[in-house]
Amino acid sequence: TDLSRIRNFSIVAHIDHGKSTLADRLIQVTGGLTEREMQEQVLDNMELERERGITIKAQTVRLTYTANDGNEYILNLIDTPGHVDFAYEVNRSLAAVEGSLLVVDASQGVEAQTLANVYQAIEVDHEIVPVLNKVDLPAAEPDRVREQIEEVIGLDASDAVEISAKTGLGVPDVLEAIVNRLPAPKGDPDAPLKAMLVDSWYDLYLGVVVLVRIIDGKMKKNQKIRMMKAGATYQLDQVGVFTPKKVEVDELGPGELGYFTASIKEVADTAVGDTITDDKKPATEALAGFKPNQPVVFCGLFPVDSADFEDLRDAIAKLRLNDASFEYEMETSAALGFGFRCGFLGLLHLEIVRERLEREFNIDLITTAPSVVYHMYKTDGEMEELHNPADMPDPVHIDHLEEPWIKATILVPDEYLGGVLKLCEDRRGIQQDLTYAGSRAMVVYELPLNEVVFDFYDRLKSITKGYASFDYQIIGYRADELVRMQILVNEEPVDALAVIVHRSKAEARGRAMCEKLKDLIPRHLFKIPIQAALGGRVIARETIGAMRKDVTAKCYGGDATRKRKLLEKQKAGKKKMRQFGRVEIPQEAFIKALKMD
Ligand code: GDP
Ligand code: MG
Repeated sequence: TDLSRIRNFSIVAHIDHGKSTLADRLIQVTGGLTEREMQEQVLDNMELERERGITIKAQTVRLTYTANDGNEYILNLIDTPGHVDFAYEVNRSLAAVEGSLLVVDASQGVEAQTLANVYQAIEVDHEIVPVLNKVDLPAAEPDRVREQIEEVIGLDASDAVEISAKTGLGVPDVLEAIVNRLPAPKGDPDAPLKAMLVDSWYDLYLGVVVLVRIIDGKMKKNQKIRMMKAGATYQLDQVGVFTPKKVEVDELGPGELGYFTASIKEVADTAVGDTITDDKKPATEALAGFKPNQPVVFCGLFPVDSADFEDLRDAIAKLRLNDASFEYEMETSAALGFGFRCGFLGLLHLEIVRERLEREFNIDLITTAPSVVYHMYKTDGEMEELHNPADMPDPVHIDHLEEPWIKATILVPDEYLGGVLKLCEDRRGIQQDLTYAGSRAMVVYELPLNEVVFDFYDRLKSITKGYASFDYQIIGYRADELVRMQILVNEEPVDALAVIVHRSKAEARGRAMCEKLKDLIPRHLFKIPIQAALGGRVIARETIGAMRKDVTAKCYGGDATRKRKLLEKQKAGKKKMRQFGRVEIPQEAFIKALKMD
């Protein structure tokens, strides 16, 4: 194909600003699918993604478009995830194309993820076409948003395209803008094959499917390729494109995006960012590559019913086949039995994995409190990563701990600014910047990630009635006075409730946790002390009084069905309980005890 007739682009936007709707519309207008095939939201094809309205895996679509100049163009759209947990996937998808459509909801304006995503696009030198979406809404203010884009982002928005992805208004103008304003790719069809490994996933029938961007040369069926970093060689089975249907092609040339299969067994064998070349006629130099995707949040996943452990092991292994960014290893907990310590890219990633395990594999889970990865410097000078507060050795062996910090950008309407500043200060934040864009404030804070992983986002949403937007990036590790706090139930430390806290906050936190647990743990036939302790020192204490009456006593001994029902209910409730020593702790306690409200 003639390179001048190819355009590669992605769509960047804040969540809910209409990225998926526009992508669907572009597919529809260019005839990628017939009416009947045109399901709602084709690009967000995982059930969970659809429910939550988010995109997790990058997808690509090849569109064929006859422009007003009479020429036929190939437009390759690569979809990017919209959530901060997947910033890394956004980055590598953007690196595979030359331009971006910046979609901004004209009734909402620029939000935190608009900024985060557009900065990433600018960083990889994209040509950017601003698109003002939802102009069909009465609340749309395209002129105001145009100004905002110029002021806040510093992009010329004078020829922003006004559209309604919902009604289709203006969508043809978007196609013309892609052809006329975005650059064509460059590349040498006669050079040795050089392709970027953009993404990969596991397909039940084909094995691992690899998404590639061809830089130079050609990729053909049956060709023997080599992954330059991994060193492995494979014979290509299938080469093709998505329209969005999977269609095999004879070859892919420079500037093109497509997929191949090659009987690769595991997603883990395909390092994103690796350079693919021809085995016999290899390229001399590999592409720059990417930083690997590191899990930043860890938590324990345990089956509610310990008999489900093997099922959980299988389920986790299956999920991991398709999601190499998620890590796990076996863990045993005195409180919770056998389970897995799992690492995630962020909280949303954690939630998605947990929900998929429960929903697709039908396993009831206990999730322990999420914890960040600490750097533990020991007195012998060694540094070790600490993924689980329960694993912390005796403090005499530890010189100091370092924790990850983030730079957070929050956009919020004026009237809620006070509440947001207070929240950030309460979470040990350090203010870096405070500016205004119209009636909205943009605040930048440095914060310990530990103070954010738990319920920061929920608190932010409730303080601002949902009007704030939030984005962050990790900026590095810093030392501080961090200590491990243990919770003792009936004099026994419960490993799954151990947390690492800043010393200045330990007491308040310990008191709050004890109070919560007092409400969460049901009365038993004996008194139960609940204590928070730093080392051997108790810093907070509550007591659950003993229960006196038999629960069925209030049924007056008369109504047998009611009595039976009550006992059944109790039994069902029991299943969600964990026996710990002589005390039964409900599964929800492990998470709820940590909420700070
Ligand atoms: P994404 O998170 O950026 O992918 O956003 P979606 O495409 O899922 O859209 C979010 C919501 O906005 C959905 O309910 C869409 O139906 C709605 N939406 C998208 N585009 C428009 C538009 O042009 N006008 C109106 N009124 N609603 C839209
Ligand atoms: Mg979407």
